[in-house]
Amino acid sequence: MCVAGDILLLLTLFIVVLNFISIEKSFQMNRVILIIIDGCRADALQQVQTANIDALIAAGSSCFGACTVIPPITLPCHFSLFTSSHPISHGIYNNTGRPSPSPSVAGLIEVLAYHHRHSAAFFTWEHLRNLWPPGAINFSLCSNVVQQGDSDRIIADLATDYIVEVQPDFCFIYLEQTDFVGHAEGWMSTGYLKAVETADKAVGSVLSGLQEAGLREDYHIIVQSDHGGQKNHHTETQDAVMNIPWIAAGPSIRTGHIIQEPVSIVDTVPTIARIMGIPHHLAWEGKAVDEIFLKSQE
Ligand SMILES: [Zn+2]
Repeated sequence: MCVAGDILLLLTLFIVVLNFISIEKSFQMNRVILIIIDGCRADALQQVQTANIDALIAAGSSCFGACTVIPPITLPCHFSLFTSSHPISHGIYNNTGRPSPSPSVAGLIEVLAYHHRHSAAFFTWEHLRNLWPPGAINFSLCSNVVQQGDSDRIIADLATDYIVEVQPDFCFIYLEQTDFVGHAEGWMSTGYLKAVETADKAVGSVLSGLQEAGLREDYHIIVQSDHGGQKNHHTETQDAVMNIPWIAAGPSIRTGHIIQEPVSIVDTVPTIARIMGIPHHLAWEGKAVDEIFLKSQE
């Protein structure tokens, strides 16, 4: 009787340990890195050598015709992305340094904090620190280095070091050089296209860092832009400005899949939440991009 009891106790402990390992592994695979290439036009990716982004497209699900919001301006677009709501809901219509978003919206970072998930951000434009309320993010780093030509590499390397060291559940990496050169030299100019190639190398730097650390399979990667551009601006609403690339790859994502359903910038956060096992927030106006998920994940 006593021996049977001991065996039962051991079996129970064994099952508890197995469940713990399973949950831990599940959390590891539900991590997300979101890389925004500011002002990257979808058709630019098709005109230049972007081997790293091409590899993500082959390994995941993508479309070149996702849609941003009006006005297609960096801060409103980022608020729409992070709060999964349109500008009429979050109330940010320009690149103000002191935005006051509507209290009715719910940003990804604060939702992750509520669910005790570790988040981090690396960026070069300080306005973006307003995308989350004080105290919500675990780590953020703003380095104002965009006037250096290698700012994307600097930010990517800083982010990669942190990811490898800390292994956050979510990491936002903002690459600004494409937008900076677009304004200075024109969208689709030689300099702009070179900046797109540089951004691709920064994406590659993150991916190779994960690979070397044995973390590549622990992370989902989403790469997209906030808007396109034409001439030296992105204030009008033509396709060249409104269409953005949207790419997702990772353990639960279909490989080599071209997304058929319409995708909006407000769909990114619901999709991230689904990957991470976070419930859809009622304030979110977008939807998870269902068709990118492997059948076993539906
Ligand atoms: Zn922008």
